[in-house]
Formats: sequence, C-alpha cells, structure tokens
Amino acid sequence: MTSFSQFDHVQETRRQWRKPVLALGGALVVMCLLLIGRWYFWDSRQLDVPPVKAITVDIDKAAWRLAEAVRIKTISYQDPAQFNGEVFDDFHRFLAESFPRVHQTFEREKVNDYSLLYRWQGRQSGLKPLLFTGHLDVVPVSPGTELNWERPAFTGFIDGNFVWGRGTLDDKASVIAIFEALEVLITQGYQPERTIYLAFGHDEEIGGYQGAAMAAKLLEERGERFLLSLDEGSAITDGLIKGLPARAAFIGVAEKGYLTLRLTAQGKGGHASAPPAHTAVGLIARAITRLEETPFDAQIRPPVSDMMDYLAPELEFWTSLKYANRWLFGSSIRRHMISTPSSAAMLRTTFAATMSQAGVKENVLPESARAIVNMRVMPGETIAQTIAHVEEIIDDPKVRVETLTAFEPAPVSDPASESFQMIHKTIAEIFPDVVVAPGLVRGSTDSKHYAFLADHTYRFVPAVITPNDFGRVHGTNERIAISDYEHMIQFYARLFENTAGRAE
Ligand SMILES: [Zn+2]
Repeated sequence: MTSFSQFDHVQETRRQWRKPVLALGGALVVMCLLLIGRWYFWDSRQLDVPPVKAITVDIDKAAWRLAEAVRIKTISYQDPAQFNGEVFDDFHRFLAESFPRVHQTFEREKVNDYSLLYRWQGRQSGLKPLLFTGHLDVVPVSPGTELNWERPAFTGFIDGNFVWGRGTLDDKASVIAIFEALEVLITQGYQPERTIYLAFGHDEEIGGYQGAAMAAKLLEERGERFLLSLDEGSAITDGLIKGLPARAAFIGVAEKGYLTLRLTAQGKGGHASAPPAHTAVGLIARAITRLEETPFDAQIRPPVSDMMDYLAPELEFWTSLKYANRWLFGSSIRRHMISTPSSAAMLRTTFAATMSQAGVKENVLPESARAIVNMRVMPGETIAQTIAHVEEIIDDPKVRVETLTAFEPAPVSDPASESFQMIHKTIAEIFPDVVVAPGLVRGSTDSKHYAFLADHTYRFVPAVITPNDFGRVHGTNERIAISDYEHMIQFYARLFENTAGRAE
C-alpha cells in the first residue's frame, strides 16, 4: 500500500510541475531564438567597394620629408615663456620649399603668426567647403627619458622600416601626408569641385587657444560654414579590440569635454605638535578620496552604442551575440568595460587628481592645500552639471572648487551622414581589410574650436596603432612604419577626390 501511495505522490508532483517547467522551457527557447535572431539579422554596415587605382608616391622621398619635419622642434611647452616662434617660421619655410605646387595653388595666410590657413577655391562656388585640420606642434620629451629613446627624438632617423621621432604619430605624419597627397594630385592636374580649406594650429598640445581658436574666429567673421571638418583623434587600431579578427578604423564622431578644477582647503597654521582633527592637507585628501570612490555614472550611449552596432556583426560569435543583444547583456558589457581604465573612459566622465601643493615644513601646519583635478566630460553631460556633481560628492564647505579650464563636450556628429559615408568609403578603398566604426575620442583635439562652423565634425587619422604603439604617442620611441605612412598619403589623396569631387 505504501509503495502505491508513493507512486501516486510522484505522479501528482509531476502533474503539478509539468506546466511551469514547460512554460520555463518554452520561454528559454523563445529567448534563445530571439537572441540568435537578433544576432543573425544584424546586418554588417561595412561597405563593399571596388579597389581604386593608387596614386604614385615616391615613398623614399616622402619618408625623408617626414623625417625633416620631425627635425624641426616645434614644441609646445606648458610654460609660455619657453615658446620659440623661430622654429615655427622654420617649419613654414620647410613646408613651402617641400610642397611648391600646393603653395602655388592654395592661398595661404598666417593666423596669429604661427598657425597656417590654406584655401583652394573649388570650381563650383555654391558648394559648402571642406575643412581639414591638424597641428604643427608636438609635446616635449619628458625630462629624464631622453636616453630611453632607441633613436633620438628629434633626429628624424629612418631605419628602412620606420621613421622615428616626436610627431611621427601625433600629428606631423597626418599634416605632411595631406601635403604629399595634394602635391601629387595637383601634379596630375586635379581640380576640386568643392573649396578645400586646410588649417594647421601651432598650440594644439596646450589647448589650441592661440592657433585653432583664432583661425575659427577668423573663419566665423568671414561667414564660412563647412560641410565637413576632419581632424586627428581616432586611428586604425590593430589588435586592440578583443574578439575582432580584423583591424578597426574608428571615425571619431564625438569628443569628450575638458574641465580642470582647483580644489583649495584653508587651514590654521601653527605647530604640528598640537594639530586639529584635519589639516588642510587632510581635507584635500578626503575630498579626492571621496571623488575617487564615487565614480560618475557609466552608461552605454551614443556614440559608443553606435560603435557597438557597427562592430557587432564583425566580432567573434559570443561577443557578437552580446553586442547584438544589449537589451539583455548591457549590464554585463558595462561591468566588463569599467574594469579597465581605457574602456571605462568610453562610458563615463572621468576624474584624475594630477597635481597637489601644500605645506612648507614638516612640523608646521599648512595654511592651505591645493589640488588640481582634470576631468573629461561625456557627450550629453555639461560642464555645469559636472561641477555641481563634484561639489555634491566632496560635500565639504571647507573645500573650495574653482574652474581653471572648461570646454563643453562637442555635439555628437551623425554617423549616418554622407560625409561619414565618404570617409568610410575611402577607408574601405585604401584599407580593404579594415572594419570601420564610429567612435568616441577620449582626449581633446583642435576640432573642438571649429565644431560650431561645420555641419559634421569627424576625427580620424589613417595611422595604424598597435597595442605596442599606444605608449609611444606622447611617450618614448614614437615612430611610424613607412608602409603605413604610404597608405596615409594614398588615403588623403582618395579622400580629397571623394569629398571635394574631381572635375573632369
Ligand atoms: Zn595631436
């Protein structure tokens, strides 16, 4: 009897559970179908374009000219007293001598003595002009690291495969490649339909306020309005994106805002043997700790979400599935991204305490303490919101917050515009193996000064950056592969034809 009753009980339990188990199984099947379906129907946004006939570049001579550009020490120092205008005059002369046809064809003017603005009238005056920008200045070599350079930073050494030196990646390669491309096009009889402007600032590395900002003001006064403004900012990355078998070109459609704050705490001086609970140093330290321990909100939003849309179909299966189904995996992607500083900076406003100053003697209480914090503000947020949030986190009336430098994040440019498509197409033509995606520039470029003059602002330099190269930009042993440099020249030549048109 007992065994019969047990059997009966098991049957009863089965009956009870059948429906929920079936429902759960059904839901899982539906979810899997949905995940796979979204992944499967997520179309590639890469362009399939026929290869183009490359222009003829004498790469040995071009590499030599880039090396010559490196030798001219157009350094931007933080301290304005160290500025040397003569080297910029030398650089202007070098450009005029090296690229005579460009200088015969374009009108050229100096802005604030050391920045350069060029203009080539297109054949159709009714078309909105194009603006290509870059910068002539470079950062100094950090004192004490000179001997770490395999080749000295300013000798423009060519070893057969690479041109070495400060500026070969940031940003002389791009500026000189633009000149090389135009020199060849002009020699071939090329004439643009659309007017082309070139603007090269002399102080980008310290904010561009004397160069690009002044050029932008001049252009504004003349009533110029651009279809497209293209600056440095993003590049072609090789081996940087996990799960992506190809190289990836990011076209920066936005860049973060820039904010530098000074935090000051006042203290009472006196003997360190009878201290208060918190000295001025302690108050500043507490404020910084609070900020570091309360990071800003991290979210996947444009343009990073657009970047994921472009990358999703190109990634290996699991990452691709996750990117295509962010409605389910969004928080796991976000958690993963905020675990490393470089990807965390794509999702939120960042904060870095960079300088501090306090005290005069070990046994004297400091009268005041100061710290400088540098912040990069996400597109969609504002400087005012950021400052208010900082004050809220510090939550201490004894710590004063002052703004030293502030630049709002530029508006996000449309990744579906015709100008974006033209840059995308040019990349596909010159670098057929490269996956293209819109991106966010974490740093700051001169493009911020021109953004209000252009319908669309993009940031892209066709230089190839490997994980190994990352530390070379603004660091030690900056260099560029000569074969990559040749592609840069090809890219710009094609880009002028694609965007400015070719008059037959
Ligand atoms: Zn730069």
